[in-house]
Amino acid sequence: MTNKITILTFIDAFGWEIYQRYGFLDGIIEDAHPLQTTFGFSSGADPSILTGRFPDEHTHWSCFNYNPEESPFKPFKYLAHLPSAIFDRGRVRHWLSKAMAKVYGYTGYFEMYSVPFAHLPYFDYLEKRDYFVPGGIMATDTIFDWCVNQDVPYYCSNWRHSEQEILASNRQEIEKGETRFNYVYLPRLDGIMHQHGTKHPAVEKQINWLDQQIRSLYELAQNRYDEVSLYIISDHGMKDVTGDINLIPDIQATGLEYGKDYVAMYDSTMARFWFMQPDAEAIIRRVLEQQTHGAIVEDDELKKMHVYFEDHRFGELFFLMEPGMLITPCYMGLKSIPGMHGYHPEDKDSYAMIAANKPITANVKSITDIRGIIEHELRI
Ligand SMILES: [Zn+2]
Repeated sequence: MTNKITILTFIDAFGWEIYQRYGFLDGIIEDAHPLQTTFGFSSGADPSILTGRFPDEHTHWSCFNYNPEESPFKPFKYLAHLPSAIFDRGRVRHWLSKAMAKVYGYTGYFEMYSVPFAHLPYFDYLEKRDYFVPGGIMATDTIFDWCVNQDVPYYCSNWRHSEQEILASNRQEIEKGETRFNYVYLPRLDGIMHQHGTKHPAVEKQINWLDQQIRSLYELAQNRYDEVSLYIISDHGMKDVTGDINLIPDIQATGLEYGKDYVAMYDSTMARFWFMQPDAEAIIRRVLEQQTHGAIVEDDELKKMHVYFEDHRFGELFFLMEPGMLITPCYMGLKSIPGMHGYHPEDKDSYAMIAANKPITANVKSITDIRGIIEHELRI
């Protein structure tokens, strides 16, 4: 058997359109394809990559699901009257999230974002476990579980570390020459494009830096191994934000009471509703149908996109913004930002990508196809 390594480089939000605009690893990449992302956010897309399955099968979709009985946020109802000037600050909430994750022993990415304290007790938080370690996905296995079962020695970066640390630790592992599979996790581009949009010079600078770093990692692997398969993948793209709507007051103006008649989760690009009072759905539907920059996503389309759940834990009614528009303020953030993802998967800027230093012979259409390609690499 030849001495071979497969390097799977994950660049968050490095969508097909971004790749086309800026280019990447010229002279190394031989084949590249757009991949359709899953409907929703990274909390659904990243598990879809690792499991090779859609959210309706692996059961990870949005961070927050309706479950007042098992909400870890129950004590927050007592904090609801604290001064919002202090407790709505991002830094204070981030610190509180960290403290809470520690108390509960959560190992996944835990963040309460800007969800009002009074509304948190209606929700459970999905990502309690770190899904980058074996056994991390609730309903199915991941590529890492597969490696353990197949005795494939692998190295997965620690997502809590900086990109510099992640690249350095991958270099160390490659130098040792023992692993057959490295998962290189590079999340910063996503944050830069959220903050500046897709056309800012900081975006090009980061992509050039990633190009140099991965080029150098690839050369190192080529010196150490007989054969190197290099893959670059992403989870979704990024859209430049063109406008906002202030949806929450329109829902409040119906006179329906949050927690008594309905519960809502306002993500940046979508709103999800659950109903306690039979008339509430029709009333909220009417408000949503009057919105000019978004539309209700009906159940048949949710089923088509593999995000439909019988028990409606993620919502009974879904409202999705048109690409480029945001709900501001929302429970993910109080202010508008220049770049966002989480729009319809068929919008051109939603597409993720896969690129490799060799022809990709498999028929690849969706981010759920990545796992099969990697398993195939690790079998030969
Ligand atoms: Zn993002």
